[in-house]
Amino acid sequence: MGQDQTKQQIEKGLRLYQSNQTDKALHVWTKVLEKTSDPGGKFRVLGCLITAHSEMGKYKDMLKYALEQIDTAREMEDPDYLTEGYLNLARSNEKLCEFQKTVSYCKTCLNMQGTTVSLQLNGQVCLSMGNAYLGLSVFQKALESYEKALRYAHNNDDKMLECRVCCSLGNIYVQLKDYEKALFFPCKAAELVNDYGKGWSLKYRAMSQYHMSVAYRKLERLADAMECCEESMKIALQHGDRPLQALCLLNFADIHRYRHAVDKAFPRYDSALAIMTEIGNRLGQAHVYLGVAKCWLLKKELDKALESLQRAQELADGMGNKLCTLKVHCLSEGIYQSRKQQEEVREQVVKFLQCVEELELYCGICGESIGDRDQKLQALPCSHIYHLRCLQTNGTKGCPKCFKSSMKPGFV
Ligand SMILES: [Zn+2]
Ligand SMILES: [Zn+2]
Repeated sequence: MGQDQTKQQIEKGLRLYQSNQTDKALHVWTKVLEKTSDPGGKFRVLGCLITAHSEMGKYKDMLKYALEQIDTAREMEDPDYLTEGYLNLARSNEKLCEFQKTVSYCKTCLNMQGTTVSLQLNGQVCLSMGNAYLGLSVFQKALESYEKALRYAHNNDDKMLECRVCCSLGNIYVQLKDYEKALFFPCKAAELVNDYGKGWSLKYRAMSQYHMSVAYRKLERLADAMECCEESMKIALQHGDRPLQALCLLNFADIHRYRHAVDKAFPRYDSALAIMTEIGNRLGQAHVYLGVAKCWLLKKELDKALESLQRAQELADGMGNKLCTLKVHCLSEGIYQSRKQQEEVREQVVKFLQCVEELELYCGICGESIGDRDQKLQALPCSHIYHLRCLQTNGTKGCPKCFKSSMKPGFV
């Protein structure tokens, strides 16, 4: 199969894929991959396969195709293709919750000497790197990466990238418990979809609705949360987007838990867990176990709660997600407290404080904690995070942590 025919067949696959005939599209692309003699075409068809497998949640296949892309790029000795291959490798690892590997492949991308084409990929690399740092609960570096990604998006007028970064920023502020910002950013993403998204895939709409839903739930606006989550789930079902279906199920379960409707929450946690286990989303699984543990606590089934927390901790340790570990210790402490098991209480307190220390979850101005309740936060351009009220009273003395002088608030 020569260059022209390869191109035609790739286009045919794309049309099928866009009209939701995924199996047929995959069939066409796999044939091209077997038969083409054009290395550039091979690289592109691998790219299509990577996107499709990512959206279906088949991350191991995604990883396999990314490695093939890198081999192809090496044969062609093309630095732009090589950068793109490594970006896809980083993304596959991000999806498989291999966050350390993701960070290191992202660094490989950023160090490559590509042309302007590969420079345009840098925004996406920074986004993936931010997501990986967030997976490792390294909040400052995550914010720093997101800010860079946002700058690339603005400079290149890349609204799709901006939309994705806004969703990730929503996610980080949910974790840091500044729920006003957690809602602001996905709302901004939804606005971008409304203003520019006519030709975009519906997954952008689904993604922004999902992140809005999580923020609404945290703000206890449960009817709004439900509405956004239903909208997101509807699109995820239409598109066979298994990873998003699982996240929506988890969020539905959490909404029911907020309403103390434990019996409605459990089956949704189960369904979410089944998909997440299948696709390899271990971070999602850890969140399911945390939610299940909280349900058992509502039912005063302390042993079952501890069992769930144990599972969450194993997953969190495996991924290096410290925030999840912190939550496990916090909840365990409460359980042992109620049982008056003082030794166990002390053990959990020590571990909890270790986590707080490692996460640097305190404000450098007042010294009090960040992220333990809903408070307004502000990051400086150096990405150090403070209470908004502390920055306002601190005046213009510069960042107390790194002594950089600029105090004007950054983008994020
Ligand atoms: Zn403070
Ligand atoms: Zn600083």
